[in-house]
Amino acid sequence: MPATFHGNVFLVAAPSGAGKSSLVNALLAQEPNIELSISCTTRPMRPGETNGQHYHFVSLEQYQQLRDSNNLLEHAEVHGNFYGTPAQPVEQALATGKDVLLEIDWQGARQVRERFPKAIGIFILPPSIQALEERLRKRGQDDDSVIARRLLAAGGEMAHVGEFQYAIINDDFDVALAQLQAIIQASRLRTAQQAARYADLFDQLGISASVAAN
Ligand code: GDP
Ligand code: ADP
Ligand code: 5GP
Repeated sequence: MPATFHGNVFLVAAPSGAGKSSLVNALLAQEPNIELSISCTTRPMRPGETNGQHYHFVSLEQYQQLRDSNNLLEHAEVHGNFYGTPAQPVEQALATGKDVLLEIDWQGARQVRERFPKAIGIFILPPSIQALEERLRKRGQDDDSVIARRLLAAGGEMAHVGEFQYAIINDDFDVALAQLQAIIQASRLRTAQQAARYADLFDQLGISASVAAN
């Protein structure tokens, strides 16, 4: 692979409970060539979560230290907790041509776009507010006050859908998953991406100049 080839950055955002993590996990089970960024967070661990797998669970002091020493690609306060994306794993994956997927909120997505303007934004919407509330309750991992807070914040998060190129309505899970896969595939097939990935072939075919000129 040419040294100049860089992976894609995918930004996935959603109001809490829309099914973002379920969809991303199902995607990664079928598509191993994407690296999932593991965020740092100060929120308490939920039952069933594993440190270092779902998040790096850190104290407020550790978080501040990471942020102040420029080790975070982006950071934001969401639902009263602090979240941030460790910069080094993302940069390393991209430099080796791997795609990286970040599950982050709209504030973080804005910061990442400043650094990676070609990042591909995907927003997951629930089929209704009622469904969102049911899913948050069904997940059964947050207490009532946390669920209420997240539902109140849903409108504010969804108001930023226009900043993302793609919007998936997660009604039927399998349909939504297929749509997510389609976005990933199509992004990889963009001509500029293909020309970078298959630079030797484009040279052989005598078409590299056409791509460079556009
Ligand atoms: P979820 O909404 O049920 O997935 O709950 P989480 O506690 O996992 O995430 C809370 C919010 O923080 C969501 O909006 C996430 O997208 C956002 N978030 C998670 N990780 C990061 C991160 O590294 N950076 C930023 N900016 N936001 C994050
Ligand atoms: P998020 O990461 O966006 O907060 P989750 O992936 O944790 O959301 O999903 C919230 C809950 O909704 C989970 O219990 C999940 O199993 C459920 N869920 C996700 N997608 C669907 C769907 N299409 N239909 C019904 N339930 C869903
Ligand atoms: P949860 O606490 O339910 O796992 O996540 C709540 C919200 O925080 C989600 O909307 C999620 O996208 C966001 N979030 C999780 N990690 C990060 C992160 O590293 N950066 C930002 N900006 N948001 C994050």
